[in-house]
Amino acid sequence: MIVVLKNNVQEEKRTQLIEWIESQGLRVHVSTGDYQTVLGLLGNTDRIDMELIASMEIVDTVKRISDPFKRCNRKFHPEDTIVDVAGVKVGHGNFCVIAGPCSVESEEQIKEVARAVKTAGAQMLRGGAFKPRTSPYDFQGLKADGLELLKAAREETGLPIVSECMGVTDLALFEDVDVIQIGARNMQNFELLKAVGRLSKPVLLKRGLANTLKEFLMSAEYIMSEGNDRVILCERGIRTFDDYTRNTLDLAAVSMLRELTHLPIIVDPSHATGIARLVPPMALAATASGADGLIIEVHNDPMHALCDGAQSLKPEEFDRLMRRIGRIRDIISES
Ligand code: PEP
Ligand code: MN
Repeated sequence: MIVVLKNNVQEEKRTQLIEWIESQGLRVHVSTGDYQTVLGLLGNTDRIDMELIASMEIVDTVKRISDPFKRCNRKFHPEDTIVDVAGVKVGHGNFCVIAGPCSVESEEQIKEVARAVKTAGAQMLRGGAFKPRTSPYDFQGLKADGLELLKAAREETGLPIVSECMGVTDLALFEDVDVIQIGARNMQNFELLKAVGRLSKPVLLKRGLANTLKEFLMSAEYIMSEGNDRVILCERGIRTFDDYTRNTLDLAAVSMLRELTHLPIIVDPSHATGIARLVPPMALAATASGADGLIIEVHNDPMHALCDGAQSLKPEEFDRLMRRIGRIRDIISES
C-alpha cells in the first residue's frame, strides 16, 4: 500500500502519521520527492483501514500495490535512483560505460585494457576473478589474485572496479571492490542476495538466463529488503530459440523496467550476443533505448583470451564504439 501525502505537509503531522502506521505493525518506506512525499507501507496491510487513512487531512491518495516487489517499485519511489560508485553516478540521465575483459588474466593484460578503456572514455573497469564456467575444466579465474590485479589497475587508472562474486563464502574478499556483480546464474541465489543486501556497497544484478522481469525485480527486492538500496539492474540477454546468437537481447525489458522500477538499468551487449561484431550495433540500440549504461567486454588480444574472446572488442573497436555511443547520446538528449 502507498500513501501519497499532500504538498507542504508539516513535518510533525507527517511523523505522527508514520508513527501511527508503525504502531499498526507495519514498516514505512519514505520517499521524499521534489513534488510529493510517498509513504510505502511494508508488511501485512490487509487489516489497515484504507478509508481511515484516506480521510486524514494530510493525505492525498491511498493505493493498494498488488505487485509483490515493493522497495524497488516505482510506485513506492517515483523518482529515479542514482547509484553513486566512488563518485561515478549511474541513473537518472547519468550514463555509465563499464568495460574490461571477461576475466582478469595477468597484470599486464588487465592494466593494458584498463588504460585503453579509460582513454576511450569508460567510467568503470570490469574483470572477472571468479568465473562461472559451464565446464569445470575451463579457466575458473585467478580468484583472490585476480581481485588484487584489478585493484592494481584501479590504482593506476582511477577507474572503480566491478567484479563477480559467486558465493557467500567469497564475499569477504570483495571488501575493497567498488561494485559486486551478481551474475546471471546466481540471480536467484537467495542467500547470496541477502548477504550482499547487508553490505553498504553497490550491486550490479544481472538478469538470469531464463527469468521473467518480475523474478528479476524480486531478486532486487531481496537485496533491498536487507537494507541495501544501491542496486543496478543489467539486462544481458535471455535464452530463446535463436540459434545464431548466444542469447536474445531483450531491449523492451529496458523500457518496461523503467516503468516498473526506479533503479538504474544497464545493458550487456557482449553476453547478449556472444559475437564481437554484433556488440557495436546492440550497444548503440541499447543506448538509444534509454538504458542508463552499458557493460562491454574488451580484450587486448581476443584471439588468446582465456574466456569469451569471441565476443570481446579490441581496444580500437571499443574506442570507435564509444564515439558512436556519444553521438547517439547527443541525439536522444536533444529529443
Ligand atoms: C560476466 O559478466 O562475466 C558474466 C559471466 O555474465 P553473465 O552472468 O551475464 O553470464
Ligand atoms: Mn564473459
